[in-house]
Amino acid sequence: MPLIVTGSIGIDTVHTPHGTADAVLGGSCTYFSAAASFFTPVRMVAAVGGDFHEGHRAVLARFPNVSVEGIELRRDSKTFAWGGRYSEDMNSRETLYTHLGVLTEAPPTPPASYRDSRFVFLANTHPAVQRDLLNHFPDHELAVADTMDLWIDTAKDDLRTLLRRVDGIVLNDSEARLLTGKRNNITAGRTILDMGPTFAVIKKGEHGCILIHRDGVAALPAYPAEQVVDPTGAGDSFAGGMMGHIASRAGAPSPRMKHGAGHPVASFDTIQRSLASGTVIASFTIESFSLDRMARLTKDELERRMLEFSRIVRV
Ligand code: AMP
Repeated sequence: MPLIVTGSIGIDTVHTPHGTADAVLGGSCTYFSAAASFFTPVRMVAAVGGDFHEGHRAVLARFPNVSVEGIELRRDSKTFAWGGRYSEDMNSRETLYTHLGVLTEAPPTPPASYRDSRFVFLANTHPAVQRDLLNHFPDHELAVADTMDLWIDTAKDDLRTLLRRVDGIVLNDSEARLLTGKRNNITAGRTILDMGPTFAVIKKGEHGCILIHRDGVAALPAYPAEQVVDPTGAGDSFAGGMMGHIASRAGAPSPRMKHGAGHPVASFDTIQRSLASGTVIASFTIESFSLDRMARLTKDELERRMLEFSRIVRV
């Protein structure tokens, strides 16, 4: 089922204990799309400026399941740019700068060929841009949003309006705390459900994630990674794997449903299963800078790690 995403395409400069990556391809929409493309075709809707060059495009071209027709080039504008520095243990990071560039301009328009999109992901960007994409797809089957501290701090009202319209939200534990004022993740998750969504996925970095759904609670550890070079994009890749999994299974008969009915897209069971795909694809993203590792990833490697992960979490 067609999956569409809007968010940032970024030019990132990242410092980790393993080195520095200067002006490399990043952005929430980019990491999401690359990750989702291992599970289902995905359509990007985002804007870039005149500083977005061939080298950046060439990275995207390494993901054949990603449609770039919806990337709008604005020659006189600047691409979103972000700089970050990770701590020695890479469990925390400091944002060095955020140059919003095209993110403060009019939202990009999805091409007519994307009209049949049914799964909508609103990756990290201004909530007004997220709302605009959602407005184009009133008949969607599932809409899920991501957000972060900057938007919780600067656009809370827009975000609260958006939350009333989406089925789910993916955010990390500090953001859940900031949004709700609750320290406990389950309480924070339940408070978010009171704001509108059916489910919230709270990510805890190397400690995995928690699903708080109207029909229950689930938790999954992260893949125990030995090689962590750059955690940037782990959260977006997680969301990409999760949404890619859901969109790829939609319409397929569900073993738990009678009469060959399809997977209910926002059910507790479907969302819980999708967390593993998100976790495993994110574990590849962090093995190198930018999208380098995902660009080299084969389906075989992905399947092998999925199997390994299912053995790791067996109880
Ligand atoms: P993650 O590590 O999953 O939180 O995502 C990192 C990516 O998000 C980087 O590639 C950045 O370009 C992008 N990013 C950072 N800050 C923002 C923001 N305020 N809005 C949208 N994207 C952002």
